[in-house]
Amino acid sequence: MRHLYVHVPFCQRRCSYCDFSIAVRKRIPAREYVDAVLKESAIVRAANPGRQPGGFGSETLETIYLGGGTPSLLPREAISALLTSLRDAFLVTPSREAVEVTLEANPEDVTPENAAAWRRAGVNRVSLGAQSFDDGVLKWMHRSHDATRIGAAVRALRAGGFDNISLDLIFALPAQLERDWARDLDLACSLLPAHLSLYGLTVEERTPLARWISRGAAAAPDDERYAEEYLLAHLRLAASGYRFYEVSNACRDGFRSRHNAAYWSGRAYLGLGPAAHSFDCRVRRWNLTAWETYRRAVVAGRSAVEAEEVLTEEQQELERLYLALRTDAGLPRSACPPDRLAAWRGEGWVEEMGDRVRCTPEGWLRLDALVRDLTTPGERSKLLAGNSLGDMVASLTDRERQVLEAVIETYVETAEPAGSRTISKRFGHVLSAATIRNTMSDLEEKGYLYHPHTSAGRIPTDLAYRVYVNSLMRLSQVSASDSHQIREELAERNAVDQILERAAQVLGVLTKELGVAVGPTLDEAVLERLELLQAGSDRLLLVLTLKSGVVRTIFVEVPSRMAPEIVVQVAVVLNERLAGLTLRAIRTTLSERLRDAAPDVGSSELLNIFIQEADDLFDVPATGAAGGGVVLGSAQLLAGQPEFATKERLQGLLEVTERRDVLREALAKRLGQGLTITIGSEHQDATLAPFTLVTASYRLGPLAGVIGVMGPTRMPYDKIVALVDHTSRLVGELLE
Ligand code: SF4
Repeated sequence: MRHLYVHVPFCQRRCSYCDFSIAVRKRIPAREYVDAVLKESAIVRAANPGRQPGGFGSETLETIYLGGGTPSLLPREAISALLTSLRDAFLVTPSREAVEVTLEANPEDVTPENAAAWRRAGVNRVSLGAQSFDDGVLKWMHRSHDATRIGAAVRALRAGGFDNISLDLIFALPAQLERDWARDLDLACSLLPAHLSLYGLTVEERTPLARWISRGAAAAPDDERYAEEYLLAHLRLAASGYRFYEVSNACRDGFRSRHNAAYWSGRAYLGLGPAAHSFDCRVRRWNLTAWETYRRAVVAGRSAVEAEEVLTEEQQELERLYLALRTDAGLPRSACPPDRLAAWRGEGWVEEMGDRVRCTPEGWLRLDALVRDLTTPGERSKLLAGNSLGDMVASLTDRERQVLEAVIETYVETAEPAGSRTISKRFGHVLSAATIRNTMSDLEEKGYLYHPHTSAGRIPTDLAYRVYVNSLMRLSQVSASDSHQIREELAERNAVDQILERAAQVLGVLTKELGVAVGPTLDEAVLERLELLQAGSDRLLLVLTLKSGVVRTIFVEVPSRMAPEIVVQVAVVLNERLAGLTLRAIRTTLSERLRDAAPDVGSSELLNIFIQEADDLFDVPATGAAGGGVVLGSAQLLAGQPEFATKERLQGLLEVTERRDVLREALAKRLGQGLTITIGSEHQDATLAPFTLVTASYRLGPLAGVIGVMGPTRMPYDKIVALVDHTSRLVGELLE
């Protein structure tokens, strides 16, 4: 592995536009962090033995990138220890300087002492989060530095021995800030950095910026300003001797980021730390994002990988196209169909350099559109899906795809079989009713539509919805008012049960389907502490407090009154040996853990009772939402849908909602699965065949729960998927 990324998740406050996975900390747990990353590195290397082809130690490291978060918040000793240990763990050439080692830093952390120490530790490139030279703007961004700190930081870095300094700047800020972008560019250039990274402001959900915009306190970034400022940056930087070598990055000769270039050329890299991504040219993996969850996993010797995605060859090809167009290397001319090349050249979006085609600044402004244009919808589906369903979609003509989408959307809106005239009208009569009728017949033959006896119109099949969800659907944005309503409903609740009940309710109301939720399963729940209280002459009360906030009380039967000091002693021993373990681990290892724990006869007797009763005492039954049970919102809105107009259908709905075991089983399979959509006949249990389940899993430390919506297969998938995803994130956040 030649490229190593290490994610440092800590920041001292959250910037107004940032939705990165960070841990806001006043005190940085540096030692725990370094230990955790090194532990993860050992786990990864043990799973991929080094110094063998393909193993993580088999190639000489070329780049290390400490990104974040704010890596410069780590004490300099921690940075030095981390780099030393990583260099020991991976193959590094005898010359340390041959390895590009980048540290992301905030200007306020750059002192002469830190700069010199970082340099001694082997850092040879610093990427400085300058963002702007306007103090008002920096304040608005919630940045901790002012403009003068940027110059001071650059000077301190130079004095410390750095000549490879990069500055980050953000453009396309709301007009109301009256930010002078040209001035910022000039001030940045006047500091003579070797490299500049320019990012357009984007509005991410759940950031202060998104909230300001939703309540009208800030204007959303506008495309015109974005384009103007981006093009101005090209002019200004070129005049100062910088050359854009990637859509967002410019440098002086010889100062390209070697680490980022590895990403853009599709090379393999290993990521360590919470939320870090890794890629081995075929499989992309990403780590658990929350710092504490990540730390617990690696300390327990478990892999930190949360999930992975295997790229098909077609997907890899699509990525290659995209990455190539991002950089000034561009595409080989042979990858560009001549008609498109001529059109793009005519618009001034690309230029030809030898046998390569690369984007102009105008082209980079519309990079996504160019990549889309390079692939027909059919090719795109194939590239993106890469499985048998993808092949099926690819076999549809463009017209079939358009008509299928229109039939689905019409049927979802009206609940009436869609006729050819209605669809023709939807297309503004550009396609005649006769043409559409023929296309619909073809789609029916291919299994995407059927028509009920009583109607000439068509209804989508489950397969049609599947194709729609996988290939045609454009996800809706959750509206500001829906988002606000969900937050309001959940914000006041503290208990897990209450949050889940309200989440199921509000999802049901907003989607007019049935909201469903499963509480975090407690088998993997971690014991925070326990208390033992006298509760009579022959029993004690055991109070288990779990890290999820759940408290469980249970009586422990004892043969006779226990002396208070023995009860206290036993509680101390149990806390010492069991706190921090999962309930499952406690049940299976209790006798082992208590084997040498009895200081005297009285406590030995009580401890024996715990060992014998462990299965009952440390088992939290799955009742209620907080115990892995199923919570449902109101079924009233769903029962009012036309699909349940007959007595028989309504009976089916009641059966599912009353016999929760079917739902519980279906939902339990989705724990930890992210976003899942199961449509009609795809369900394993036939009872659920009339329904679609859209769910998203949320996490509560090591626990996983599920939240979602159940409804008839006819549902506005684009809206519902977005709402479920949004709500599950919010629930996860609140529970964390
Ligand atoms: S310093 Fe960077 S990572 Fe931290 S909150 Fe600000 S933008 Fe996000």
